[in-house]
Amino acid sequence: MYRNFAIVPRIIFGRGSLNQLGDVLKEKRVTDGGYMVFVIDDVFTDKPLEGRLPMEGKDLLLRVNVADEPKTTYIDALVAQIRAYSDVTPDGIIGLGGGSTLDIAKAVSLMLNNPGSSADYQGWDIIQNRAVYHVAVPTIAGTGAEISRTAILTGPDKKLGINSDYTLFDQIMLDPDLLAGVPKEQWFYTGMDCYIHDVESLNGTFINQFSKSYGEKSIDLCREVFLGENDSAQGDKLMMASYFGGMSIAYSQVGACHALSYGLSYVLGTHHGIGCCITFDYLDEIYPAGVKEFRQMMDKHEISLPRNLTKGMDDASLDLMVTTALNLVPLWENCLGSDWKNIMTRERTLELFKRM
Ligand code: NAD
Ligand code: ZN
Repeated sequence: MYRNFAIVPRIIFGRGSLNQLGDVLKEKRVTDGGYMVFVIDDVFTDKPLEGRLPMEGKDLLLRVNVADEPKTTYIDALVAQIRAYSDVTPDGIIGLGGGSTLDIAKAVSLMLNNPGSSADYQGWDIIQNRAVYHVAVPTIAGTGAEISRTAILTGPDKKLGINSDYTLFDQIMLDPDLLAGVPKEQWFYTGMDCYIHDVESLNGTFINQFSKSYGEKSIDLCREVFLGENDSAQGDKLMMASYFGGMSIAYSQVGACHALSYGLSYVLGTHHGIGCCITFDYLDEIYPAGVKEFRQMMDKHEISLPRNLTKGMDDASLDLMVTTALNLVPLWENCLGSDWKNIMTRERTLELFKRM
C-alpha cells in the first residue's frame, strides 16, 4: 500500500514576504465579530516583529513560552484561554517561532475543533474534525515542522505527535529575514536537526526516489550552509533545506538518532535539536560518513556539546530511556531493517545511553 499523503497547499517564499501576511489573512476573515490569534514565541515580546503583525479589531496576541518543549497540558490551557476570550471560534491561528511554537499553533488549531484533551490525540489519525485555518511563519530553520503532518507533544505517558492530515498548515510563509537574531548555538542545533533528518532518510531501508530527491538537495544545502563560505543567502538556503528535509522524511522515516534522542528528551527534558546532536555524536557505527561530516561542521563552528548527561542516573530512569527509544518501531525498522530487534538490543541501547 502506498501512502496518499496531504501536503501544505500554499507557500510564500522570500525576504520581506511577512509584509504580505495581512493580505493573506484578509480573505480568511469571514466571521462577523471574528478574530485571528497570533501565537508568537515570547522571545519576541516587545521586539519589532510584534509591531509588524497585521492585527485588527478583536485579534488576540498569544505569547507562548518554549523553555520547555510543548506539553499537552500547555496546549489544553492555551485552548481554554482562547475559549475564555470569546465564544466565537477564531478565523485563524498564525504561529510565529521555531518548531516548538509551530507545533503549539498546530495543536491549538486542532483542539479548537475537537473535544477533550490534546493527550487523547497523540498517535496516528485519531483526530476527527479538521483544524481551524492555520498559518506557519518560521523564525528559525531546520525542524521541518512547517511542512510535517505532526505536532510533537509531551503527554502524561508519552512523547508522541498528533499525526494527521488535518495537522498540516494551510499556509506557510518562509521569510529568511526572520532568522536574524537566532543565537549561534541554537542555529547550529536546529540546523543539524535538518542535516540528521537527511542522513537518516537517505541511509534508511525505506528510501525511495521521492525521499532521495528531496533529501539529497536538502543535505547539499546543509553542506553549503555549515561547511561553505558564509554568504548572504545562508538563511534562504537553510529555510529550503528544512522544507526539503521535511519532505524527504514525509515519505520515508527518521532513524536511530531520533529514536534515542526521544529517550533523552522524555526522561531528561533535553530539547530536540541539541538532543539529536548529542546522540548523533555516538552513532559512528550506524552512520559513519554522516557522523564524520557532522564533526567537521561542529569543528568549523566551534560547537562543544554537553557530556555526561546520564552519569549517576538510577537504573529505573535509564530503563525508561531505553524503553522510550525502542518503542519507536518504524524508526528502527527504517534504520536497521526488519531484523532490528536482534541488532539494537536493550543492552546495546543501554550502553549507548550510558556513554552519553
Ligand atoms: P524552538 O522552537 O524550541 O526554539 C529554540 C529557541 O530559539 C527558543 O529559545 C526560541 O525562543 C529561540 N528562537 C526562535 N526563533 C528565534 C529568533 N528568530 N531569534 C531569537 N531566538 C529565536 O526550536 P526548534 O529547534 O525550531 O524546534 C524544536 C521543537 O520542534 C521541538 O519541540 C521538537 O519536538 C519540534 N519538532 C517538530 C517537528 C515536526 O515535524 N512537527 C520536527 C522536528 C522537531
Ligand atoms: Zn528532528
